[in-house]
Amino acid sequence: MNCTKCKTKAVIKIPRHHAAFCKGCFTHFVHDQVARAVKSEKMFGKDDRILVAVSGGKDSLALWDILLKLGYKADGFYVNLGIGGYSERSYTMVRRFADSVAAPLGAALHTHTVEHEEGGGIKELAQVVHRPTCSTCGTIKRYQFNRAAVEREYDVMATGHNLDDEAARLLGNVLHWQEDYLEKQGPTLPASIEGFAKKVKPLYRLSERELAAYCVLSKIEYIVDECPMAQGARTLLYKEVLNRLETESPGTKQYFYWGFLDKQRRKQDAPLTMSEKDQALLHPCATCGQPTTAEVCSYCKLMARAKLPAR
Ligand code: SF4
Ligand SMILES: [Zn+2]
Ligand SMILES: [Zn+2]
Repeated sequence: MNCTKCKTKAVIKIPRHHAAFCKGCFTHFVHDQVARAVKSEKMFGKDDRILVAVSGGKDSLALWDILLKLGYKADGFYVNLGIGGYSERSYTMVRRFADSVAAPLGAALHTHTVEHEEGGGIKELAQVVHRPTCSTCGTIKRYQFNRAAVEREYDVMATGHNLDDEAARLLGNVLHWQEDYLEKQGPTLPASIEGFAKKVKPLYRLSERELAAYCVLSKIEYIVDECPMAQGARTLLYKEVLNRLETESPGTKQYFYWGFLDKQRRKQDAPLTMSEKDQALLHPCATCGQPTTAEVCSYCKLMARAKLPAR
């Protein structure tokens, strides 16, 4: 098998593009997919400051690496959830990347430690407030990531969601006709109101397999284990189903998700935005001042139930 571009020995086959690439051409392909995503979805420019949510997994570290290699100003933001050995190992991966790749390129890593700031590990907090661990975790991560971006004056927040994540989420939203979520499922969600940072997903054109290969070929070490709290059986099932379709018919995931985006674009003729109804309902949280549709935001409600002051 030879590289479609330069005819030397290929190291990876990309059936959905009817292509195979050598290491150099594959790296170029990955960078090009991200550059296209950034441009076509009007994500950010070379002067913008980007805050990348990094977890220690392949997607977020690959994203940070690619943005830096493409010459963007991208810093990292890591939330230490206090989940024993898993959090220790994931932090080691993030720290290693930050020191060896990001710092020499002038990029910084910000960290938020839930045990220090929220007063307990994520499992203990969830028990205290009688909520599922993942929903407690989601509330804290969303809140602290947005807060870090706004307070530190970043122009945009970037997450490592890939094509598999977005196609599985779309399948779930379609199967349950979650029309509200469908409206908001795009790679760019603008900062529609003061206090909410713009959010982007520059990896939506790349699959999980391609990102794992990128990390291996670029010698980026990442944590392979899933978070031990992961209960996303449904998301995993959707991914499995989509993988079966992809094997039978390469390109299915891409047609499904990109096709959806095309239709959204034609319908709105503009990037996705928060609905006018939601915007009208937003106002500052009575406790912390971040935007919310309720009197008190879900993070402050959570902290109040845990009997801890919002920080
Ligand atoms: S699996 Fe749940 S607890 Fe673990 S990082 Fe994801 S949302 Fe948080
Ligand atoms: Zn090549
Ligand atoms: Zn609040």
